[in-house]
Amino acid sequence: MGKVAVGAAVIGAAAVVGVAALVVRQRMKSSGRWARAMSILKEFEEKCGTPEGKLKQVADAMTVEMHAGLVSEGGSKLKMLISYVDNLPTGDEDGVFYALDLGGTNFRVLRVQLGGKEGGIVHQEFTEASIPPALMGGTSDALFDYIAEKLAKFVDEEEQMFHQPPGRQRELGFTFSFPVMQTSINSGTLIRWTKGFSINDTVGQDVVAELTNALKRKGVEMRVAALVNDTIGTLAGGRYTNNDVALAVILGTGTNAAYVERAQAIPKWHGPLPKSGEMVINMEWGNFRSSHLPLTEYDHALDVESLNPGEQIFEKLTSGMYLGEILRRVLLKMADEAFFFGGEVPAKLKIPFILRTPEMSAMHHDTSSDLRVVGNKLKDTLDISNTSLKMRRVVVELCNIVATRGARLAAAGILGMLKKMGRDTKSEGGGKTVIAMDGGLYEHYTEYSKCLEYTLNELLGEEAASTISVEHSNDGSGIGAALLAASHSLYLNEKSS
Ligand code: ADP
Ligand code: MG
Repeated sequence: MGKVAVGAAVIGAAAVVGVAALVVRQRMKSSGRWARAMSILKEFEEKCGTPEGKLKQVADAMTVEMHAGLVSEGGSKLKMLISYVDNLPTGDEDGVFYALDLGGTNFRVLRVQLGGKEGGIVHQEFTEASIPPALMGGTSDALFDYIAEKLAKFVDEEEQMFHQPPGRQRELGFTFSFPVMQTSINSGTLIRWTKGFSINDTVGQDVVAELTNALKRKGVEMRVAALVNDTIGTLAGGRYTNNDVALAVILGTGTNAAYVERAQAIPKWHGPLPKSGEMVINMEWGNFRSSHLPLTEYDHALDVESLNPGEQIFEKLTSGMYLGEILRRVLLKMADEAFFFGGEVPAKLKIPFILRTPEMSAMHHDTSSDLRVVGNKLKDTLDISNTSLKMRRVVVELCNIVATRGARLAAAGILGMLKKMGRDTKSEGGGKTVIAMDGGLYEHYTEYSKCLEYTLNELLGEEAASTISVEHSNDGSGIGAALLAASHSLYLNEKSS
């Protein structure tokens, strides 16, 4: 056969395949399409299952990993970082302090005036800005310069009444919500970026030095008094108003938790025993993983294609950055294999992270009888129009599966912490335990937070549940950092008397 003939034969074969595909497509359209979509849904639902027994295994695995992480550095996927915070706020803190909260999509700068004993928070103001996506993958200097500039502007607007007394520098609590190996209350090196950040020249650097240098470049006179993350800040902010607060959980773009540990239960701590006998531990629980976690093919693919494959597995199941993306992946499979949205796969559905968790939660919360919000969101975010009510119901069902699994796993994680703290059963002394919670996911995704609280009660049982409560610590991370700057101020001893 000559070359031309070969070419023709190949084209002929391709045409046959094309016709065959068309036939399959049409047959699929007429009958099997819906059934195939339902089988994808059912399989996903099964794989996401979180029966009580499984959640208890997850909780136990969390407790075991906590122990291991406290014994030695690198002893566990859980870093169990020592925060150097051995004194949570008492309520006596006094003066004007700043806080900077950097941890994800937005960052905030706060000015807080504390009124000393029984004075509480006399005044607070803040400004918020988003981090331009380009800076999330640029250089350290570019990111910190941007932040320092916003802080400079905020400080410039400081009213006379908030000026420091003569001879005293402004002080700041820096909430930096990424894994940091702390070397003192106000120094620590970045272990790795998470939540979509990837700025290689910061890893291994002291983040307080990075910030301090940027502040100098921008001419801001300020001392960084405390370096904390959002969980520590939330714990401190919660404790300031409620003495029973002993753990904090963040569910926002990412997720993390912190709690108060007995210093003697931290074998890897070789420093002097703190007077309080306690030390706050930053778990970095987002990196938890266990064979008991219900992972699906979608989670594996999401992980492999992520900026940090193999890491932050618990975070990828539970937090705001990922829930919408998991949903997108399931919808894509339905579109691709079951022609769920018609013959063509909607182009936008192929774009990673295009379906964000706020959109997912809006669809999940849609109470209109014709699921109008679902229809509109599919149209606005994915360019998918003409969906039937039946299809929209499937989308809501998928939202429910993804959110329920995440919320129930987060509850199991909290149970693991309570077990480690010996607070998962009712004590004779009748002690109470309050969990300070914060983060945009927890705050806005009501179905998620309701499910979390319901599951926690289910896992604890009625008696123990009666001693444990969850409190929304609104903006604890910012206020908390200012409080910790106050309790670690250079000027503590010359406090106005
Ligand atoms: P960060 O974690 O970045 O510090 P937040 O605590 O404010 O910031 O959380 C923001 C995250 O919360 C968003 O990335 C998003 O995943 C989630 N979120 C915000 N609003 C909603 C909403 N309405 N429904 C569901 N999730 C939301
Ligand atoms: Mg935050």
